[in-house]
Amino acid sequence: MNISFDKQIGSLEREILLKSVEIHDSGDDFQFELNKFFSQEEIIAIAPRCIRCNMCVDQCPVDAIEPANIFKIAKITQNCVKCEICVQTCPVSAIKLIDNKVSYNYDDGDEA
Ligand code: SF4
Ligand code: SF4
Repeated sequence: MNISFDKQIGSLEREILLKSVEIHDSGDDFQFELNKFFSQEEIIAIAPRCIRCNMCVDQCPVDAIEPANIFKIAKITQNCVKCEICVQTCPVSAIKLIDNKVSYNYDDGDEA
């Protein structure tokens, strides 16, 4: 079988060398602008004081709570839509809505 290359070996070597330089670029001169940034995430979490009654599991409209058993407390899963029905339902207030906020203002040099 005959194999022919469209490019000369010298030209291929130069291309590879140039691409290697691009790959090993340290990115020191890379800049981006981030003047203002705000992010907010609400998380529903169950505290260890859960008494494993599973009332929250029965009330959740989207089946987002893994039931408690003798080995583990109830657990909120990713299907949670944060309606907070379980927060109202729990007889020992073991379920909380945690409001996680991050804001950054470049002008103030402020981060919260
Ligand atoms: S309702 Fe409260 S105590 Fe009962 S399983 Fe859910 S988190 Fe635990
Ligand atoms: S907040 Fe609503 S959707 Fe999320 S686990 Fe509780 S009852 Fe289910």
